[in-house]
Amino acid sequence: MTEVPRLPVSGGCRNTPILKQRGQREVFCGLTGIIWLHRKMQDAFFLVIGSRTCAHLLQSAAGVMIFAEPRFATAILEETDLAGLADAQDELDKVVGELLARRTDIKQLFLVGSCPSEVIKLDLSRAAERMTQKYAPSVRVLSYSGSGIETTFTQGEDACLAAMVPVLPETDTRQLLLVGALPDVVEEQALSLLGAMGIGPIKVLPAPRADSGLGIGPNTVFALTQPFLGDTHAALERRGASHLAAPFPFGEEGTTAWLRTIADAFGVDPATFERVTQAPRARARKAIAQASEVLRGKSVFFFPDSQLEIPLARFLTRECGMDAVEISAPFIHKGIVGPDLDLLAEGPTLSEGQDVDLQLDRCRAARPDLSVCGLGLANPLEAEGLATKWAIELVFSSVHFYEQAGDLAGLFSRPLRRRDLLSVDAPSLCPKNSGGEAQPRGQSPEGAVS
Ligand code: SF4
Repeated sequence: MTEVPRLPVSGGCRNTPILKQRGQREVFCGLTGIIWLHRKMQDAFFLVIGSRTCAHLLQSAAGVMIFAEPRFATAILEETDLAGLADAQDELDKVVGELLARRTDIKQLFLVGSCPSEVIKLDLSRAAERMTQKYAPSVRVLSYSGSGIETTFTQGEDACLAAMVPVLPETDTRQLLLVGALPDVVEEQALSLLGAMGIGPIKVLPAPRADSGLGIGPNTVFALTQPFLGDTHAALERRGASHLAAPFPFGEEGTTAWLRTIADAFGVDPATFERVTQAPRARARKAIAQASEVLRGKSVFFFPDSQLEIPLARFLTRECGMDAVEISAPFIHKGIVGPDLDLLAEGPTLSEGQDVDLQLDRCRAARPDLSVCGLGLANPLEAEGLATKWAIELVFSSVHFYEQAGDLAGLFSRPLRRRDLLSVDAPSLCPKNSGGEAQPRGQSPEGAVS
């Protein structure tokens, strides 16, 4: 029999008071999600209505393959357009008309809003409705905001998926819906495990193509694969679908608990569950044990960034032997991360949102062995001798389910191993360095060289 996850003796963190501070924040914007979403949706195109800054962000982050037609672009709204919003709408219609005439492979077009005030004044949802009427049924036009104002970078995916839910067809079929964009190989592992238990039919949001036959209805039960999908969760519930709340599938324990929640909802018997999960669980445990050696007894401090912080803290403390000092997330949605909070032992500070200066003060006072943070904070913290892990790398890497559990632990152990190596080498690199700094000044943080 597979054992049920042990609850912490001290009690979980679901009812721990949450420190809420508002001030300056250090986050990427939601446009970042286009980088992984355009790979998942093979007939979609993302047209950002934005500034040159947005275009630079997308091009530098996603790169452009010159031998392939890109599936994202930025329509740059010049400042002179401010005076004439009607002209801007006409211009947008013209750009979209030219795009769709040239690219007949596009079946879903997303108009993506951004920060500039002239963009905020444009009603992109009305524009999307107007264009859908014009181009239906061959193209579906939707809109969402990827603006960096009051958002964090993973909200881009959430906003995109939430925009899709209301226009999906109705279905009465009893089905499982997996929600969240995962790398294809990881998604296939999940489908294979669930399929081997006899669970089906299984659908995925985002579906690879607009005509994938995905519908939603009162007999749809859904499991989130990412903890940052609060708006999508609400949109699915408004369509009558039911959420299976579970710890997120990070590590052996999280994956088993996530699978078990689904298996219970679909009446899978314990023997079948055991038969399907036993071997991959054993592999995951072994891989985690090897990769987490250096993490045992070390402290970790999470700055708010990816919204993966709470499930990852659960994984690091329970399966890798780390001690969490502070676990901070941009938003804490207990309907989504509650099961992970139940498993987190009391002790760390839980915080939501950020006043970055105050939080940096707490981090400096705690001197954690590892700080998980955004790109903007990594270099300053490294310069102060604190090891860091870029939160964004956790979103871009394959980290879900059993076969990736060892890699997930490895992502956290690598900065600590590297720091140990540099600590030994530092005196010989710089004769004046008597050991006060663990690495030469100007050295990039771990993520830059990995
Ligand atoms: S959406 Fe806003 S934060 Fe993001 S690149 Fe454009 S201007 Fe910058």
